[in-house]
Amino acid sequence: MADVIRRDPRIERIARNRLHPQHAAVTAVGDVRGPTGLLRKNPHAVGFIGPNGIKRIDRSTKGSANVLMRRTGQQAATQTLELPLHTVETPDYLIAVVVDLAAGRLSGHDKDVLGQAHQLMAELDGQGAILAIAFGESRDVDFGAAGADRVLHLSDYTGYCPEQKLAVLEAIEAEHVIRFWLFPDSVQGGADLGRRLSARLDIRAATHAWQVDANTTLCRGGRDRIDWQRSTPRLILLAEECAMPISDSRHEARPIAVPVIESRLTLIEDLGPVDVDPSQIALGEAEFIVSAGNGVRDWDQFHEVARALGATEGASRVAVDDGNMPRFRQVGATGTWVTARVYIAVGISGAIQHLQGIGQCDKVIAINMDPGCDMVKRADLSVIGDSQAILAELLNLLGADEQASLAATEARHVA
Ligand SMILES: Cc1cc2nc3c(=O)[nH]c(=O)nc-3n(C[C@H](O)[C@H](O)[C@H](O)COP(=O)(O)OP(=O)(O)OC[C@H]3O[C@@H](n4cnc5c(N)ncnc54)[C@H](O)[C@@H]3O)c2cc1C
Repeated sequence: MADVIRRDPRIERIARNRLHPQHAAVTAVGDVRGPTGLLRKNPHAVGFIGPNGIKRIDRSTKGSANVLMRRTGQQAATQTLELPLHTVETPDYLIAVVVDLAAGRLSGHDKDVLGQAHQLMAELDGQGAILAIAFGESRDVDFGAAGADRVLHLSDYTGYCPEQKLAVLEAIEAEHVIRFWLFPDSVQGGADLGRRLSARLDIRAATHAWQVDANTTLCRGGRDRIDWQRSTPRLILLAEECAMPISDSRHEARPIAVPVIESRLTLIEDLGPVDVDPSQIALGEAEFIVSAGNGVRDWDQFHEVARALGATEGASRVAVDDGNMPRFRQVGATGTWVTARVYIAVGISGAIQHLQGIGQCDKVIAINMDPGCDMVKRADLSVIGDSQAILAELLNLLGADEQASLAATEARHVA
């Protein structure tokens, strides 16, 4: 009896009526049960309508395909959707994707490149598999969900060590049949490593490629004003959004053996990261931005929070026009387009011109009084309330944290 499918006519009625107040909540589950009882994918549930009326795909984790949100009244329960598992026993060839794994996570760019690898594989004969190669520590990365059939993860390759990484890639090239080498063309590592490998393998790589099939590749250059077409080489450095990430299948991410690496003379020594003043980092390059809008009440407090967090300051146009922030801090269509991994918007409403500038940010946190504003809709996490009170609490927490770590250091010294 447990597997008898029970239909709910009320839910079905709400799902058909786009004007019903609960329509969005009901269809947000992504799949709808059809009249025959079959589960059907609802294409309208993919993405969301942005403030300018254009449909956008949400790449934050809350929109990922394997998390299903069902909302009933005030309650929200999370349930994992089992996507079909794709397995390849003995692949004829591999497509190698060397991911950046910046800060231990797969970036949107990494996932786009894995998506591109699948597109290429669909065009090739024989049975292939996608090999994800990652260096450095990872934080709960699900390579299988991102589309990797095989994984080589070398967590002890930390810091800047391109010669050692290159030796691993060369060993893989020697041990496996690699049909394509794909890298994100990014400053996080892919651009450098990809070019080094292309020189070593003597392949004229395609760089900043954004439209790729097995025969032809379109690359962008000339400050993004020129496209040129060429035949697809075996080594490709890909631009962001070259392909859609994998969202409708799971891959087994089976680890492969670490290749045998010849010992090699290393000429580069990494002396570790250099402390930089966050206020000196150009907005376009900043990884962590705290940005102020018209909802900031205490400007000294805002600057103190930015300092305590070690974040680079940004601003909305209103904050700049009112003289509270310098012009070069403006984020948005007529300011700087930022690519921060974390963007905290304090008292910013989320006008379309501002949202355009933060389109590439990974995680957005909104601090705002208005739960219905567009910034809160865009954000991955929102704190609703008065900015002054919230920033004061944040400063308290940061102060408490600092004291605790000082006490711990002192205790270690005494011991
Ligand atoms: C051609 C053109 C180009 C533009 N380019 C840009 C651009 O590049 N960048 C840009 O940012 N804008 C740009 N704008 C302006 C844009 O349209 C908005 O006017 C601007 O972004 C709004 O700034 P804001 O969100 O800080 O202010 P507001 O729209 O006034 O929003 C203030 C927000 O703060 C919240 N708030 C108020 N009090 C508090 C409190 N005490 N605590 C917490 N929250 C509070 C409010 O709920 C509101 O959401 C442009 C406009 C035009 C016409």
